[in-house]
Amino acid sequence: MICDDVKRVAYFFLDGAMGEKKQTDFKTHVSLCPECEQRVSIHRRLRNFISRRLGRMAAPPTLRQRLTRSFRALREV
Ligand SMILES: [Zn+2]
Repeated sequence: MICDDVKRVAYFFLDGAMGEKKQTDFKTHVSLCPECEQRVSIHRRLRNFISRRLGRMAAPPTLRQRLTRSFRALREV
């Protein structure tokens, strides 16, 4: 996986919508590449921020499900 790939799929990774094999490639690249590591960490903070704000509102069940999956994905990192 190269930096351009990471840029393209970072959202899917944080969304937990990535295959296991690809997820491993992704994590390997991010652990070796400071630039991508920073990019992913910015994405993650942004998502956490949005999730917290949404959490205070009554989120529709589908959205809540999506967020729960996201949290699960984040804990695995
Ligand atoms: Zn990179």
